[in-house]
Amino acid sequence: MSQSNTRDSSTATYECHECRNRVEAAGFPGPCPECEGPMRNIAVPRE
Ligand SMILES: [Zn+2]
Repeated sequence: MSQSNTRDSSTATYECHECRNRVEAAGFPGPCPECEGPMRNIAVPRE
């Protein structure tokens, strides 16, 4: 399968539930680096 994305599709964006801080990581980043709150994957196909 040949797919040409402009960005690395192996990374996902995670957002903190507490402070809305966002991080991009290849895997689950663990607790928020800012407040140690829970992170969730926000890989939604829209801006
Ligand atoms: Zn946070």
